Amino acid sequence: KAKKNTMSENKKLDKITAVKGMNDILPADAPLWELFENTAQSVLQSYGFQQIRTPIVEETKLFARAIGAVTDIVEKEMYSFTDSMNGDNLTLRPEGTAGVVRAVVEHNLVYEGPKRLWYKGQMFRHERPQKGRYRQFHQFGVEAIGFTGPDIDAEIIMLSRRLWDDLGLEGIRLELNSIGDAAERLRHRADLIAYLESHSELLDEEAKRRLHSNPLRILDTKNPAMQDLVNGAPKLLDYLGEESLAHFHGVQKILNHNNIPFTINPRLVRGLDYYNRTVFEWVSDKLGAQGTVCAGGRYDGMVEMFGGKSTPAVGFGMGVERLVLLMKDAAEPEQPAQCDVYLVHQGEQAGLQAFVLAERIRDAGLDVVLHCAASNGGGSFKTQMKKADASGAAFAVILGDDEIANNVATVKAMREADAGAQQNTVPFDDVVDYVVDQIIGDHDCGHDHGPGGHVHHHH
Ligand code: ATP
Ligand code: MG
Repeated sequence: KAKKNTMSENKKLDKITAVKGMNDILPADAPLWELFENTAQSVLQSYGFQQIRTPIVEETKLFARAIGAVTDIVEKEMYSFTDSMNGDNLTLRPEGTAGVVRAVVEHNLVYEGPKRLWYKGQMFRHERPQKGRYRQFHQFGVEAIGFTGPDIDAEIIMLSRRLWDDLGLEGIRLELNSIGDAAERLRHRADLIAYLESHSELLDEEAKRRLHSNPLRILDTKNPAMQDLVNGAPKLLDYLGEESLAHFHGVQKILNHNNIPFTINPRLVRGLDYYNRTVFEWVSDKLGAQGTVCAGGRYDGMVEMFGGKSTPAVGFGMGVERLVLLMKDAAEPEQPAQCDVYLVHQGEQAGLQAFVLAERIRDAGLDVVLHCAASNGGGSFKTQMKKADASGAAFAVILGDDEIANNVATVKAMREADAGAQQNTVPFDDVVDYVVDQIIGDHDCGHDHGPGGHVHHHH
């Protein structure tokens, strides 16, 4: 009767769902995410990058200052709110660079010399949700702070290329450009405004609004109707001075020397104001309009902008959702086993001893799922063996009244590869050794010998 009441109560309540554009990552997809994260972290480590973690919430003015007031992000995409406790203006981070630079300046991190940093985490932008574009999404990013030369620009590009290789992703192409320094952009700006004004009938509302406040951002428009106009606009590349050109050629020389193909895209300006000189994007054609999986460039002015001493920097952010979509496309993901051992039990005494045995097996380094009879579709032997099978476990360890009476357990091999083991009766105190031996002896199941005889395993 109590159950019935709860159900009718629930019926009266609204169904609560996730916020639009914010996704749950369910257990079926989690292994793919984990694979991405582990691969990315080991690539980053192999280039000597160190992790930094900053808060998800920052003062709104941090982003307004870093990204620029007249940008898509600051004009319309930020989740900003007033802290009702003290009236502070706060924002859920829309990108990672501003927070990292704030932290670097606040903690004087580059005092000891240049730093290679990386971060990962959720970002938030109020955009129209579609494939590859969400309101909460995840980025991995790097920020190399304190490096002047083109070598570090090339290094982070090569690092990302290594990641595509390690993930088995093909067909991600590199687009490269230089947007020069502030003085060069100022000279370009005058010509750009004149060009856009002479075609004012082709400008959309946003472009008209930005014509005098931030004309460069018009070149980053996603409006298909404006692509021809933008293609014909004056190119920043034609305004670069000697030093910017030398830097740009320096990056290209290293990429060429390492056989990294790229195309120069003079239209590439990026959507954020903080960039200068090198900008780049990695683009896939398999994702429709949301094809950019990684984007970055130099931002030599930002450290100073936040009160640090003038310090050059370069970085990128990559969109994990888009890369996971590509990973799914590239290979049917393998569902790893939930555990090594599924523990089946029946009867009160067996239920108690099952806990003891499960803990002992875990002590030896294996993963164990202990059947929960009360909440897992009942406790019949048959049901439990079905769960054991579904779990992907290599072994079912079975405790029933007979086993308890004889101080043994039944150990059943669940996979064909272990079929030689079949089903055995093993003294209770020997079960751990028996199972560990069987699993270590099976070289195909991905387990390694670890120090101290413990089993370390990688699913
Ligand atoms: P786009 O041109 O696709 O809007 P952007 O220039 O706004 O991208 P950046 O700010 O440079 O993107 O972010 C770096 C990367 O983060 C992008 O290349 C993309 O892979 C990913 N990304 C950006 N916005 C989103 C989003 N709303 N949902 C999912 N991924 C995103
Ligand atoms: Mg965007």
